[in-house]
Parts: sequence; C-alpha cells; structure tokens
Amino acid sequence: MDKPNTLQQAIRYFSDEQVCIDTIAKMRWPEGPICPACKGTEHYYLKTQKRWKCKKCSKQFSVKLGTICEDSPISLDKWLIALWMLVNCKNGISSYEVGRGLGITQKSAWFVLRRLRLALQEKSLVKLGGEGKTVEVDETFIGGLSRNMHKEVRARKIKGTGGRDKTLVVGFLERGGKVRTSVPNNRRKRTMHKEVKQNVSAGSILFTDELKSYNDLAEEFAHKVINHAVAYVDGNVHTNNLENCWSLVKRGLKGTYISVEPFHLFRYLDEQAFRYNNRSRKDNLINDGDRFDLALSQIAGKRLTFAEVTGKDGSYN
Ligand SMILES: [Zn+2]
Repeated sequence: MDKPNTLQQAIRYFSDEQVCIDTIAKMRWPEGPICPACKGTEHYYLKTQKRWKCKKCSKQFSVKLGTICEDSPISLDKWLIALWMLVNCKNGISSYEVGRGLGITQKSAWFVLRRLRLALQEKSLVKLGGEGKTVEVDETFIGGLSRNMHKEVRARKIKGTGGRDKTLVVGFLERGGKVRTSVPNNRRKRTMHKEVKQNVSAGSILFTDELKSYNDLAEEFAHKVINHAVAYVDGNVHTNNLENCWSLVKRGLKGTYISVEPFHLFRYLDEQAFRYNNRSRKDNLINDGDRFDLALSQIAGKRLTFAEVTGKDGSYN
C-alpha cells in the first residue's frame, strides 16, 4: 500500500500493527534495529511477540522502547493517528475530539497529545536571522486563559503584563524562514531586550512596532519601527506575517481549546509553530503525509530535515 496522504488513507494504512512497527522502526533505525541495551545490530525478529531479540546480549526489545509511547497501553495505530490529527488539523485538535475519534477516554487522549506536543517542541539552539536577514518581532496578549486559575497564581501571572487575565506572548519570525514564540513575564525593556537577543542573531534587520521596550536595539540590529497609529505597512516594513500567525493561534484557541492555562500555553504555541514551519509553500509543496513524517522523525529520535522528507532544499521565499 502506498504511503498515506489523507486521514482516511492513514487510518487504513496503520490499521495493521506490523505496518506501524515497520514505519517507526524505519524512522528510528534507518540502518536496521539497534539493541538499546548493548547497541548490538544482530538480532532475530520474534514475529508473534513483535519484538527483536538481540543475538549479543539476548535481551528483547520492542519498537516502543525508548520512545514517548514506551510505557503506554495505547496501541501504536492510535498513537500514529493522534499524531496525524495533531499535525494536520490547521486549528489544532482537542483531547475530546481525539478521544472520541479513536475510542479512548479524554484523559488518555490528553496524555497522548501532551506527549506528542513535547516531541514537537523545536529544541533548536540556533538563533533566527543573521546578517542581512529580516526578523519580525511582535508581542500579543492571549486572553481569557486564566479563568480557572487560583486567585494568587493568577495575580502573579498577570502582574506587569498590562493585560488583565491575559498572557503575554512574544513572537519572532524570520522572513522566508521559521517562527518561534516565547512567554515572558512582562514586556519591560530589559525583558524584551533579553528576549530579542536570545532569539535573533546580531546583525539581523529587526522589524517591530513602536513599543518603547524595543528602543536602543540599534547597536546590534538594523532596527526599523512601524508606527501602527499611522500605518500598518510602510513599504517592506511590517509585522504582518507574525500578525497572521497570531490570528491563527487565537482562532485555534477559540475554536478548539476550551481553556489553556498559561502554564500549558507554550506547548500549544510550539504545536502551532510546528505547523507553521512545516506548512506548504508556493515552491515547496508539503502534503499531510510529509508533515506527518517530519513529526514522526522527531518522536523516533532522528529528526529529519524538511529537505530529507520532501527532497527539496527547504529554502522557501
Ligand atoms: Zn543487546
């Protein structure tokens, strides 16, 4: 059967447990299974138990061992379909929907999604931008998230953010590149400078709004400010790409996630960033199956690049 490209094909494809095992194994060990205990590469496959037995140390291991699904009783087909839904539903997916769709409890689905989101987090230490590259920086408040929070916690969380009951999020978007987000405690100058320097390479061209906290960054960056009171776009100077991201995030939160506590918000933002960073573009068509492969490669421990999955160079403008 061909590699799936739609949810319906994926459900059919992964209904065979052996196919699930082979898919993950191929992603995890492109050169063939490696024994987690002794790193041995010689083994027997025990067909009925669906495990490998190491010829060197005689220990048995399954494809789940050492992955995020290791200690879960949820079957692999459900894990894979949950991942498919998570990375391919544009507005995100709730544990209620996944639970209903897969016939597992909402609690189990919540656990599965939490683990999958962890796996999707971009752990890149590489800053965005660079000499001559443009990075949009913009902050937003994501609202109504702390409804169920204890009064004291809420008071602590929303202090200094300027938005009652709202969580401050700052985003960085490299033009023609990736987006990432951060959830700082406030938007004072010191905090914002630290955020910018942590996420953007010196020498980048920085586009921000007129928030005073961005002042005095001109020493390290070519800083251009867009005054939103006057215009939203001044030639090439705008933060519209990032603003589009914010509207996607907010639409997703409104429609799908009934309440996301600020503590969990960064996970949701990472998930949204994964979808954005692996979206289909004019020159680089990436389909649902490709996006699924990229995500699965992170879970399996070998992170594939965009180019490896699509056979394209990954420079998108
Ligand atoms: Zn071994």
